[in-house]
Amino acid sequence: MLRLPEFGYLKPKSVKEAVGLLSDLGGDAMPVAGGTDVYPKMKRGQFTPKYLVSLKDLPGLVGIRPGTKEGMWIGAGETLTAVAQHKAVLKQFPALAHAAESVSTPPLRNVGTIGGNIFVDTRCNYYDQTFFWRQAAGFCLKKDGDICLVAPKSKLCLAVFSSDTAPVLCSLGAEVTLVAPKGERKVPLMDLYQNDGIRYLIKGGNELLKGIQIPRASFGMRNVYLKLRRRGSFDFPVLGVAAAMNLNAQGECSSARIVLTAVGSAPRAVNEAQQLLEGKRIDQDMIEAVAELSMRVSHPVDNADLDYWYRKRMTRVYVKRALAQLAGVRLETEKSSNQT
Ligand SMILES: Cc1cc2nc3c(=O)[nH]c(=O)nc-3n(C[C@H](O)[C@H](O)[C@H](O)COP(=O)(O)OP(=O)(O)OC[C@H]3O[C@@H](n4cnc5c(N)ncnc54)[C@H](O)[C@@H]3O)c2cc1C
Ligand code: SF4
Repeated sequence: MLRLPEFGYLKPKSVKEAVGLLSDLGGDAMPVAGGTDVYPKMKRGQFTPKYLVSLKDLPGLVGIRPGTKEGMWIGAGETLTAVAQHKAVLKQFPALAHAAESVSTPPLRNVGTIGGNIFVDTRCNYYDQTFFWRQAAGFCLKKDGDICLVAPKSKLCLAVFSSDTAPVLCSLGAEVTLVAPKGERKVPLMDLYQNDGIRYLIKGGNELLKGIQIPRASFGMRNVYLKLRRRGSFDFPVLGVAAAMNLNAQGECSSARIVLTAVGSAPRAVNEAQQLLEGKRIDQDMIEAVAELSMRVSHPVDNADLDYWYRKRMTRVYVKRALAQLAGVRLETEKSSNQT
């Protein structure tokens, strides 16, 4: 059995005290919310903080307020179960409820938070292993080594961003509030990510996520999340497709967003699809064209479960299904999917 190493556990009473601790301790400390990502990684020597700053039950990080002036507010410390079961989330954003409900298993969702989920570490078959396994195989760029074992010529780590809720929130145009000792700032969630398996978040180490705001403009958008994984019971996504769309009375698309997860080190917005869809009627030909486009920008590599080429081709199938569901189009055949 793997055991946790020794560490200092700090329990601040306010968000202000928490960011103060993170600033004072610098790289020696990291925040922990539910700990469902942090603790297993400490046991495997992937995370080696001297101190953990606990965010559990911090006032200021909890609460779901569905009808604020700006939209829906979800505190970073809300558990995935609370998000998945909240009536207003289920009604307005079934894709978010479904994504939260598809994370891991019930016991982990009861402690795992939405904040921890959108900041969850990137994954790789060569990195998500015990210390002893990694020592035997040779350490890699992401932790303790100086080479990428997946693509030895790559200077960049290609570990995969695999959060289920982040792509949905990005497709709904969510904005996040970050707190640092100097004050708060708001950023579109999508702008927080970059395609680098190690530095996948563009934020300061002492910045805490306070909460997530889904804008009022996204209320009423049709939304869906489809997840591909090996086991239906629980598994990280090896492909996730989040799509949100507004249709006018004539059945034309007035706005649309498609965001992919688990095909790169950051969520991938298919902006090209958005341009193609807007102002058009959504029929089978349009769906096929957008699905094809999405497949072209989906670039999984060989460092996660299921063959990467299969995952790339399944992007087309899943985007097709997502759009058909949103637009209420009955696909005549799944000819392309049968060819995958
Ligand atoms: C067996 C297993 C299966 C899993 N399956 C899935 C899955 O299918 N899909 C999926 O998406 N995830 C999965 N996970 C990962 C994880 O359980 C979830 O992502 C969960 O939501 C993480 O939330 P947490 O509160 O436990 O995060 P923690 O482990 O506490 O933290 C995760 C990261 O976020 C940071 N963090 C947390 N809160 C804040 C905050 N407010 N401000 C700043 N930084 C913060 C932490 O410092 C850490 O870097 C799985 C994990 C396990 C062990
Ligand atoms: S992609 Fe390369 S550097 Fe990144 S975790 Fe995997 S093996 Fe390590």
